[in-house]
Amino acid sequence: MTVVDQIKDQLDIIEVISGYLSIKKAGRNYKALCPFHSEKTPSFVISPERQIWHCFGCGKGGDIFGFVKEIEGVEFKEALRILADKAGIELKREDPKLVNERVKLAEINEKATEFFHYFLSQDLGQKAFDYLKKRKVNPKTIEQFKIGYAPDNFNALLDFLTKKGYTEQEILKAGLLTQNEQGKIYDKFRGRLIFPIRNPEGKTIAFGGRILKENNKAPKYLNSPQTPTYDKSRIVYNLDQAKTEARKKNQLIIVEGYMDVLAVWQKGNQNVVATSGTALTPGQLTIIKRYTPNILLAFDSDSAGSEATKRGIETAIEKDLNVKIINLGKYKDPDEMIQENPKQWEKAIKDAIPIMDFYFESAFQKIKKITPQAQKQASYAILPLIAKLKSPIDQDHYLKKLSNKLNLEPKILHAEMQNFLREQAKSGKIQGSLRQAEKLNKNRVQITLEEYLVAIILLDPKLQAVILKDLKSSDLTETFPKKLYPLIQEKSKKKVQINFSDIEKNLEQSERTKLNLILIKIEEENKKLTAPLGEAEITTQIQNLRNHTLVKKLKILQKKIQEAEAKKDTNTIKNLTKKITELSQKLSSIQNEG
Ligand SMILES: [Zn+2]
Repeated sequence: MTVVDQIKDQLDIIEVISGYLSIKKAGRNYKALCPFHSEKTPSFVISPERQIWHCFGCGKGGDIFGFVKEIEGVEFKEALRILADKAGIELKREDPKLVNERVKLAEINEKATEFFHYFLSQDLGQKAFDYLKKRKVNPKTIEQFKIGYAPDNFNALLDFLTKKGYTEQEILKAGLLTQNEQGKIYDKFRGRLIFPIRNPEGKTIAFGGRILKENNKAPKYLNSPQTPTYDKSRIVYNLDQAKTEARKKNQLIIVEGYMDVLAVWQKGNQNVVATSGTALTPGQLTIIKRYTPNILLAFDSDSAGSEATKRGIETAIEKDLNVKIINLGKYKDPDEMIQENPKQWEKAIKDAIPIMDFYFESAFQKIKKITPQAQKQASYAILPLIAKLKSPIDQDHYLKKLSNKLNLEPKILHAEMQNFLREQAKSGKIQGSLRQAEKLNKNRVQITLEEYLVAIILLDPKLQAVILKDLKSSDLTETFPKKLYPLIQEKSKKKVQINFSDIEKNLEQSERTKLNLILIKIEEENKKLTAPLGEAEITTQIQNLRNHTLVKKLKILQKKIQEAEAKKDTNTIKNLTKKITELSQKLSSIQNEG
């Protein structure tokens, strides 16, 4: 038994997928809103019987491995690791070098966390500790977030970790060292307050450091570089501690800085994360959407209006997230608001306004009088956002609102929006999503006639006899049906009604998945039929297939004959001509029957 089989034995697909999506029972199967394309009615089907999922909207489908690969955005190896973990199975086959590296990096990050955390409670870290006290961070929070202090020294951490047995190269790879132009290697974080950055599973994978001595030459915040375990475009700070509460409240508060997270957390809103320095990226939003589609942004007014934030928000709208803005009023960040006026923070959360209303407000703030110039200005600011809304109802709502405010016909605005979309398509921005759509189409599970005829034997006892009698192995040309059909023929000699479990053992893992996908697709398609498929229809389909196969074979022979003629190979020509005559006769006899 392979590891993959072992894992599949241990894990139920319903259990795995329900860890990511909210699913509902629908007959024998389960349904969910597809996480891979945007939809309002569920077309994502999970079959516990077949241990398979398939989306009838975007066409993606597969087993638990395929699902984890897609939703985590990882390669097969990583999906294997995640699921093996879940199943409690130890992996032995993984490339030991890679495992070793990942384990080493994780160890180094854990050791570094302890190292920094230790120094916060020492004399050396007094300044950092005082700073936290001044910002009203309490000891419990310091523990929960494992906040630390990096001594103001070029090799304190390097010495500590090399004594623990790690090489300079390994520590460098973990992102904790810096190399200067002369090739000298030294501690990256020095004299800074340290925030360990953890992945959603709670493992420390990077660090953020805040400067304590104001210094114009050094950046206020310094983050770990990209490492084999840290992809900053996919990580938000504190999601590991916020995810449970985010699911429960069905809402996630997003702030900008580490200190904001601490303040909001202490205030009792434990569903809080930070983007820590980056604008919201598509990768971060994909991960956030796993926990809740409702996000509240508490950004200071400068960044809320910035281009980077706007791009992030547009991506969120495209991903069909409900974005609301928390109005911070005169305060520069959530931390300041909570320290100075905690009651107002509570109110600000309740009064958070939908993102579209926020953009309306800021666009119309600048407009004193409705002039043609102002009409243009406001519609250029808002129409692109309306165009991005997923729901036509929302689009209509905001188009009407805009038309009221600007005193313009909705029709005109609608035309203007279409113009805008065309412009954007030309400039290539939408081409990305067109390419995406093409890719989806390629992924779509298309069933060929051969696959259909062979697979339906396993589903429909009435059709089984007809197909087994009519369909010949020689009618099949595709690899998979050609392998499957003789197996079915063989088994059917010993048993009257055979089904999937009878031939399962003779198939490879990937073939089993493929067959299951074909079967679930046929089942779902059959549900849509008003009357079940009859014997006559199947007979016609077999004739069509035979016809098609003969034509295909004839074409191949004709090509071969041309080659033989070029070589003046008379013997081969004679043989081929004989075969062609036979096939042609067969073909015309079939066509006469039909
Ligand atoms: Zn889908």
